[in-house]
Amino acid sequence: MFSSITMRYSRQVIFEYIGKEKQEMLRKSRITIVGCGGLGTRTAELLARAGIGWITIIDKDKVELSNLQRQSLFREEDVGKHKSEAAKEELGKINSSTKVNAVTETLDRRNAGLLDCDLVLDCTDNLETRFVINDYCAKNSIPWIYSAVIGSGGMLMNVMPRREYCFRCVIKESECTESCETRGILNSAAAVVSSIQATEALKILTRQPCEKGLISINLWPLRLTRISVKKNPNCPTCNGKYEYA
Ligand SMILES: [Zn+2]
Repeated sequence: MFSSITMRYSRQVIFEYIGKEKQEMLRKSRITIVGCGGLGTRTAELLARAGIGWITIIDKDKVELSNLQRQSLFREEDVGKHKSEAAKEELGKINSSTKVNAVTETLDRRNAGLLDCDLVLDCTDNLETRFVINDYCAKNSIPWIYSAVIGSGGMLMNVMPRREYCFRCVIKESECTESCETRGILNSAAAVVSSIQATEALKILTRQPCEKGLISINLWPLRLTRISVKKNPNCPTCNGKYEYA
């Protein structure tokens, strides 16, 4: 058994920041992915291939034809199936040793206990859900990674329990949010943001330093920007008022 595991992850284990011990940490890790769209499908695939032990996927939607352009775990035959179930089926074929829990629900304060794990990956497309994640994770000292994608670009931020700022310090409720339905989305933009998110997940799950601040990336034209983030002294979450969880 161990030798097949060694072989399976050999290219990752010889990578300088991983090694056998940290590969074992990944095997023991539990993550929750909220949203199984352009970001969630690819992040789930990358992390299942990397050898994460347990993955919970939360999404209440069904696969639509227009999803296939960018949602990497789905095929034509999946149209009409629940995304979480279709993702579980495909991930099982990719790595049968990763345990996948498919949850066909919308995340809100009533089922926020689903976020009890080692790391939460935000792959949603709405602010309300992100505030639920932010409050629940702050309250329970769980790290999480914000990610968003639209057009040819996206954003990403590690929100760590003992770091000086949280998501709500940066993003206000009133923030205008355009959607992929109105602006469109390139599959390559989702792939790049997912790849950064999955890499940050490996750093966090193996207890290594992760990136600070808000990372903004655009592919067309190409640029990567790191925006430094400060604590908002009036942030309710940082002041222990968890209105969303
Ligand atoms: Zn805050």
